[in-house]
Amino acid sequence: MAATTHRAPSGTRDILPPESQRWTALLELFEREAVLAGYGLVLTPLFEDLSLFSRGVGESTDIVAKEMYEFEDKGGRALALRPEFTASVVRAFIQHRPATPWKVWYWGPNFRYERPQAGRYRQFFQLGAEALGTADPALDVEMVALAWRLIESLRLTRVTCLLNTLGDANCRPQYRAKLIAYVSEHEHELCPEHQARWRQNPLRVLDCKKEPCRRATQDAPLQLDHLCDECADHWKRVRDGLDTVGIPYQVEPRLVRGLDYYTRTTFELAAEALESAQNAVGGGGRYDGLVEELGGPATPAIGFSLGIDRLLLACDADGVFAACSSVLDAFVVDLVGGWQASAVTDELRRAGVRADRGFECEDGRPRSLKAQLRAADRSGAAVAVIVGADEVAGGTATLKPLRGGAEQVSVRREEMVGAVRALIGDSRL
Ligand SMILES: [Zn+2]
Ligand SMILES: [Zn+2]
Repeated sequence: MAATTHRAPSGTRDILPPESQRWTALLELFEREAVLAGYGLVLTPLFEDLSLFSRGVGESTDIVAKEMYEFEDKGGRALALRPEFTASVVRAFIQHRPATPWKVWYWGPNFRYERPQAGRYRQFFQLGAEALGTADPALDVEMVALAWRLIESLRLTRVTCLLNTLGDANCRPQYRAKLIAYVSEHEHELCPEHQARWRQNPLRVLDCKKEPCRRATQDAPLQLDHLCDECADHWKRVRDGLDTVGIPYQVEPRLVRGLDYYTRTTFELAAEALESAQNAVGGGGRYDGLVEELGGPATPAIGFSLGIDRLLLACDADGVFAACSSVLDAFVVDLVGGWQASAVTDELRRAGVRADRGFECEDGRPRSLKAQLRAADRSGAAVAVIVGADEVAGGTATLKPLRGGAEQVSVRREEMVGAVRALIGDSRL
C-alpha cells in the first residue's frame, strides 16, 4: 500500500551535492569580485507588496502581466513572490536612505510562472549587483566590468558582452514616435505574436529573434542614431572606459532587454553555447528613473543580474568549472566501537582536515573493515585512518592511502594529523 509521494513542483528542482558545491564555488567567485569592487551583500524578502512589482517592473511586461506568483496573505495583503531583484533593492534603498553611491550585491531565488524548459525554471536563481546614486559613466564601466570579471574567472570563453544605449526621457520619446511610425507601416510583416501586441512595447520588435520581425525591422530607425547630446556623450564615455579597462564588447543597436525601466546603458551577456533563442545568461543596465518612479528621490542607478542555472549550463557546454569531485580528505574506519573513532575524526576536523567516519551497523557493532574501506573509497577521501583494537592499545593510527597506490603506514597517535596532512598533500594549512 503505497502512500502518495511528493515531488518538487513543476518548474522547480532540488540542487543536491556534489552539484551544489558548484553553486557555493560560483557564489564565492562572485562575492570575491563584488567585494574587491566595494559592494556589500544585501538580503531582501522573498515576497513584497504586489504593487511594488507592478509599478517597478512595469504593467506591460510579461513578468507582471503573466508570470507573477501573486497571493493574499491571512491579513488580506496583496503580495507577490519576488520575480526579479531590482525593484526590491530600490525599495530597500528608498526605505533606508543609505549614503550614496550605494553599492550592493545579491544572490537568491526569484519566481516566475513560465513554461519550464532547459535552463528555465519557475524558481530560478540569480546573482547580481546594483549601484545607486551616481550618473557617472565610470559606474556603468565598473558594473559591466564586474559582470565580465565573473565570466573570466569562470574561464568561459564563448560569451559576448552586447552593449547598447536606450537614450533617456529627453531623447527616447522622439525616437519612439519615429519607431512607431515605421512599425505601423510594416505591421503586417511582423511575427504573429508581435502583429497582435507590438504597440504595448514597440521597442521589443527590434530584438525579436523571429525571422519575420528581423526582416520587417531591417531598416527601422535605431535609438543609437537618435541620441540627445548628453546621451551621446555618456555613450561615448562608457565605450572609452570599457576600452581603457580592457572589457571586450560588441555594440548591438537592437538590444532592448525586456524591462520598462532601462535608460541609457544596457548590456547583455550572450553565451554562444546556449540555444540561440535564449542565449542570454543575463544582463542589466541603467534605470535612472526607477527610484523616483517608486516614490524615492531622483537617483540615477545601474545594475545587472545573471542566471545561475544559465551560467552553469554555459560552463557545462564549454567544459569549464566542473563540480569538485572530492568533498573529504580523510575517512576514519572504526573497528572497535566506542568513542575513539569519533575523537580521531574530531581532532582531524579541528586541524582543518575534511573528515568523516564510518558508522555502525543496525545491530550496534562496527561494520567490517572491507565494508568501511568501500565506503571510504566511495567518499572520495584521499586517506583512510583505521582505528582498530591494536591501534587503540598501542596509541597509534594506521593510515591507508586510497589513491595512487602508496603503502599503508602506522604512526603514533600524536603524529597522526601531520601524517594525514602530508599524505593529502595539504597546502592549505
Ligand atoms: Zn538622451
Ligand atoms: Zn516578433
